Amino acid sequence: MVHGAKDHPISVKSIGGKTMNKPRVVIVGAGFGGLSAAKAIAGSAFDVTVIDRHNYHLFQPLLYQVATAGLSPADIASPIRGILAPHKNVNVVLGQVSGVDTQQHEVVAEARRIPFDYLILATGAQHAYFGHGEWAPFAPGLKTIDDATCIRRRILLAFEKAETETDAAERARLLNFIIVGGGPTGVEMAGAIAELANRALAKDFRSIDPRSARIILVEAAPRLLTSFEPSLSQAAKTSLEQLGVTLRLDTAVTALDAEGVSVGTQRIEARTVVWAAGVMASPAGQWLGADTDRAGRVKAAPDLSVPGHPDIFVIGDTAGLNDANGNALPGVAPVAKQQGQYVAALLIARQKGQTIASFRYRDFGSLATIGRKRAVIQMGRFKLKGFVAWLLWCVAHIYFLIGFRNRLAVAINWLWNYATFQRGTRLITGMSGARMEELSMSAEKKAASRGAG
Ligand SMILES: Cc1cc2nc3c(=O)[nH]c(=O)nc-3n(C[C@H](O)[C@H](O)[C@H](O)COP(=O)(O)OP(=O)(O)OC[C@H]3O[C@@H](n4cnc5c(N)ncnc54)[C@H](O)[C@@H]3O)c2cc1C
Repeated sequence: MVHGAKDHPISVKSIGGKTMNKPRVVIVGAGFGGLSAAKAIAGSAFDVTVIDRHNYHLFQPLLYQVATAGLSPADIASPIRGILAPHKNVNVVLGQVSGVDTQQHEVVAEARRIPFDYLILATGAQHAYFGHGEWAPFAPGLKTIDDATCIRRRILLAFEKAETETDAAERARLLNFIIVGGGPTGVEMAGAIAELANRALAKDFRSIDPRSARIILVEAAPRLLTSFEPSLSQAAKTSLEQLGVTLRLDTAVTALDAEGVSVGTQRIEARTVVWAAGVMASPAGQWLGADTDRAGRVKAAPDLSVPGHPDIFVIGDTAGLNDANGNALPGVAPVAKQQGQYVAALLIARQKGQTIASFRYRDFGSLATIGRKRAVIQMGRFKLKGFVAWLLWCVAHIYFLIGFRNRLAVAINWLWNYATFQRGTRLITGMSGARMEELSMSAEKKAASRGAG
């Protein structure tokens, strides 16, 4: 039965003209999980096919720096083919997967069907607006390079428009920036926008003072960074306040449109709203007709296989698995990487007629940065905050980036930004896209006012 596939395209028995003789492992998604599985299984007695809708692997933890003009997209992305080129038994296919035929053992990717003996689904997650999909055009989330450049355009355009705006109320609206969500991404975005306004843009305008911009972070929970110890949440709060960010904790957004957000009975006007509040797993669960949790993650067996399908595995943000204490594993890169390595080891063991123990996550800690020289780190009972934490954060991120060019580019950029307070990638690109966004926003506004009338 095909779940998720709209049609039944032609099946291929070979990929790129190469006949597959060994057991075929198909990996969907070349993010942290998929790539670690592919690298760990490369060189073994399998024919491996990695399918991704993009031709690049993206280092999502630094996306917020692209969105705030600190880094350029190419600094944090690497071509998948290039990464996997040394592994001769790994083949890469560019394509959007839309379903899995669990009976025929085939993946449906656009106009082709790709057969598998083992399937690893590593398709990650996407934004979720808590049932308010209509908020999406007004509050882009941060998940892809396109999201990041869209947010960068909106932030920089807001300053440009404010410079020539004569109406004081509209100018204030343009200089208000709201971030919804006080997890690591929201905290990092708020700190970075504050520094952009207070430092990098401070002297560039003549009619407005970018330092008068208000950056408002709205979080429904009573504290920031709820996955960290309360003392580190407090440190993040203090750091953000020192950067001039206004915090609205214990405050849920109840409405959101092109002119701002409502929090209860109060209205905060802003032309730029960034969504960092919720994610939903990819539709892999629907493709399989599998049981999912509230966040859409496939409820995986302890060996990460999908119950009822011992040859199909889910890993990373699209997999739902609890730790020994019954808590859901977090949606972070180390979980995805370790799960990718685990499934590769399990398949290699299976080929040898062996078994391995259930998956166990080794938690090496969490990090979040606030602005250009402060961070918080939690590793078990060890806690660190401030400048030294920030240095460790920098080292860790450069170390985990893929490719020497990316590491060098990011390190040079950071040194330059640190020394000069400048942000070299303050480019407003994709203006035709911006016009389309504006048109669709005004069309939605008209439709809403018609509905109200
Ligand atoms: C802004 C941001 C900041 C983050 N910061 C941190 C951090 O500091 N530390 C940390 O540990 N984690 C962080 N995370 C979380 C971390 O990035 C994820 O947990 C991790 O990427 C999950 O890995 P994955 O392999 O499951 O999915 P992903 O890395 O998201 O990879 C999924 C891949 O699947 C592909 N794909 C999706 N659907 C399809 C389809 N239908 N067909 C073909 N291909 C498809 C995508 O193109 C992508 O390449 C952050 C996430 C975001 C968005």
